[in-house]
Amino acid sequence: MARWIFHIDMDAFYASVEQFRLHPEYIGRPLCVGPDPKQGKGRGVVRAASYEARAFGIKSAMSVLKAYNLCPEAVFVFGDFSNYFEASDEVMKVITRFADEHRIRKASIDEAYLEVTESVKKYPGPKALAQEIQKTIREETKLPCSIGIAPNMAVAKIATDQNKPMGITLVPQDPKAVARFLAPLEVTAINGIGRVTGNRLKKFGITTLGQIQQMTLQELFPSMGKGAKWLYDRAWGIDNRGIIRSGPWRRKSMGKDRTFSKDVDPNSMEVALETLEALSTRISQKLQSKSYHFRTVTVKIRYRDYTTIQRSRTLPVSTNNPETLYKTVTSLFEEHRKPDTALRLVGVRVTNLTRMRGQVSLAEYF
Ligand SMILES: [Mg+2]
Repeated sequence: MARWIFHIDMDAFYASVEQFRLHPEYIGRPLCVGPDPKQGKGRGVVRAASYEARAFGIKSAMSVLKAYNLCPEAVFVFGDFSNYFEASDEVMKVITRFADEHRIRKASIDEAYLEVTESVKKYPGPKALAQEIQKTIREETKLPCSIGIAPNMAVAKIATDQNKPMGITLVPQDPKAVARFLAPLEVTAINGIGRVTGNRLKKFGITTLGQIQQMTLQELFPSMGKGAKWLYDRAWGIDNRGIIRSGPWRRKSMGKDRTFSKDVDPNSMEVALETLEALSTRISQKLQSKSYHFRTVTVKIRYRDYTTIQRSRTLPVSTNNPETLYKTVTSLFEEHRKPDTALRLVGVRVTNLTRMRGQVSLAEYF
């Protein structure tokens, strides 16, 4: 039976979280997530660039110095992963509501596949459902996304890339239409064909998927070896992987960071400890209100020079005890902090979460 699979990919995810959720004053401006080269932090790389920054030729993984030279007026935001995790959780929750029996597969922090073969029947067509999802994500999380619609995961993923940002690309279910859609595309459009394999194929004269469609499977062996069958199927848009039920979307972590308004001197750590206590308390309240227990605690420490360490400890059993959380946090902090270095930021995160029905507590752990 023909299926409908959506691939949803958030547009310039980290940069969009900064613009649309945290700093609306930066909407419409070129923005890079990464260390600010104007503050002498020129060594890092751009983790994400807004579409306005991309217009200047800025790309992710480019050095921030190069980005600065391309666009001196760009805003640089250091970025904080806890904000991205939080946004990702919210997006995945929205997406889960639209999938058939919660059949979604999260592919990365900002990307997911969902089976919508059944859900589509409640709409005039797959595009109308995609528009509804796009609109709901925008309304509830403020974030833009693009959606690829196809009869399977591999083709849906390629479709999404054809039209960004805020695009919707539909590839019809007919296998001939799928092959026609793929034919003009470069081999590197396929998820799994990177630059290395792309260059090897080029040496054999193969650059487009249409060329592979003209070949027999045997003719693909010299360049692809064991991967020939896989690439052959992908070039024809054949992919029988199913999307198993992985929802309802469960939260995987909860965390908070705080950047100090001015760096904390190594000789007066009270401020840092108070902050860690405040962060632990907020996380505890959130755990309680959502009935979650945690097993792993991570403390993040960022020093004045932006070097950042994260240290974790996993407890023997799950708990939601606020005292246990705070004690674990402070002991990790005291054990791992460099004693003579000023601090810029501290953070606390709990992972290994389980949702509890009854109350089980572990006050006696300490
Ligand atoms: Mg993305």
